[in-house]
Amino acid sequence: MSLTNLSPATLDFLHRRHGHFIGGRWVQSASGRSFDVHDPASGEKIASCAAGDAHEIDLAVKAARAAFEGPWSKFTAAQRSVILWKIADLVQANFQQLFELEILDNGLPTPLAQYVCGMVVPEFFRYYAGWPTKIEGATIPAAPQGKPPNEVISFTLREPIGVVGAITPWNSPLPMVMLKIAPALATGCTLVLKPAELTPLTAMRLAEICQEAGVPDGVINIVNGYGADAGAALAAHPGIDKIAFTGSTEVGRAIVKAAAGNLKKVTLELGGKSPVVVFPDADLDQVIPGAARACFFLQGQNCMAGTRLFVHEKIHDKVVEGIAAIAKSMKLGPGLDPSSEFGPLISAKQRDRVAGFVDAGKREGGELVCGGTSPNRPGYFFEPTVLTHMSSEMTPVKNEIFGPVLCVQTFGDNDLDRIAREANSTIYGLSGSVWTRDLGIAMQMVRKIDSGQVSVNMHAAIDPAMPFGGNKQSGWGREFGKEGLEPYLKTKGISMTW
Ligand code: NAP
Ligand code: MG
Repeated sequence: MSLTNLSPATLDFLHRRHGHFIGGRWVQSASGRSFDVHDPASGEKIASCAAGDAHEIDLAVKAARAAFEGPWSKFTAAQRSVILWKIADLVQANFQQLFELEILDNGLPTPLAQYVCGMVVPEFFRYYAGWPTKIEGATIPAAPQGKPPNEVISFTLREPIGVVGAITPWNSPLPMVMLKIAPALATGCTLVLKPAELTPLTAMRLAEICQEAGVPDGVINIVNGYGADAGAALAAHPGIDKIAFTGSTEVGRAIVKAAAGNLKKVTLELGGKSPVVVFPDADLDQVIPGAARACFFLQGQNCMAGTRLFVHEKIHDKVVEGIAAIAKSMKLGPGLDPSSEFGPLISAKQRDRVAGFVDAGKREGGELVCGGTSPNRPGYFFEPTVLTHMSSEMTPVKNEIFGPVLCVQTFGDNDLDRIAREANSTIYGLSGSVWTRDLGIAMQMVRKIDSGQVSVNMHAAIDPAMPFGGNKQSGWGREFGKEGLEPYLKTKGISMTW
């Protein structure tokens, strides 16, 4: 599909001179600097966007503080619910535009973009629409200063944490922004968001949709720009009460340091290198497509990706053959072509980085079963790749590649502790899956795998109500579900006597 086949709403949006959304208005950068946005399926420029820095971050933080202390604090919980529900309706009403912008920005295939823009995002806002009226403190049978129960009452108030700074990655742009905006609105916080500079489009459109749904000016602010400028300024700003960061473990460490200045609260959703453990009794009709999807979903640019396959040696050849057949059959192409099954990587840099890991794997003794190269066509495509004969010390097994590279390891015994040790032999602990028909094995393994999420006979089972987040160096805190509200709230303990 060429750009001329896009809906008028998408074309209008692309042709704008994009700025920053501060205090409910679009403003340009004081510095006059900008950056280009590219379609990863063609490499072509599709939009241009103002690049903000500490100046725009400061303006946005002031707007967010004024809204937090002013109009937003007057909204009742029920009114915030209505707004969250309305955002979901408007996301659905703007489906075609969001769908096209998300594909052009990120490169994801049509069915996935349909699922994300038509289902995941509206359902998530609807889930959080239910929460504002259910955020409750507690009455506590305390006896401060030895007071008897009839002379004192103690209770807690749950209050919004304040102004939140959110920083998001490029790999799933709209859901990543949704994950920050929905809990912030549900709890009564305000927000300054810096989207990934590679994929800023749907974040900007969602901010407008929120305004249309009744979110007051200044509650949601977007500052576009590079991580080193706008992102670093946001993480360090003394007017920010909490940082909600999703991105790499390396940048997560920089965020923690930058946040130390005013000891802002920090949640981190970071990288992963998740294991997929397949026992010999597993249903291979489920395992083969499931393991292929676990790794190749979103071209492997997915924090939950099941990139380390541990398979029992009895079934190794059959499983690898099946996954390789799927990998070879996937039709590479631009996401806007509905027949494409596998999109491009986000950038030339990312494609070259992925190729470097495959080369390292081959050099270190891995066997390339399929893929491993970039097809000769425009855009940043890279074939789905399977490497066998891998072990835990090899470069592609140790590092988060963030591309479609499956590393296969085997085991030959039933020693669950040893298998789990291997599965856990990484600095990450985000997701993971176990494939077996034996309930006893499944229940033991889900306890032994040190990840924030473990699925059985499925991988990356995401739902708005299910807490999600990382153990070890995959993060701090949880998003999704009731737990996802906690980092946006603070508790005040109150005792009264008379
Ligand atoms: P990244 O390089 O860490 O960047 C994430 C965001 O941080 C971007 O907006 C980036 O800006 C910004 N940034 C970069 N340097 C910064 C700094 N010094 N201070 C403040 N902000 C800074 O990650 P990415 O390459 O975009 O995304 C891939 C990573 O995200 C992977 O590691 C993946 O596993 C992780 N991820 C985790 C989850 C999860 O839920 N756990 C979900 C999705 C992705 P610019 O890039 O615009 O310069
Ligand atoms: Mg980056």
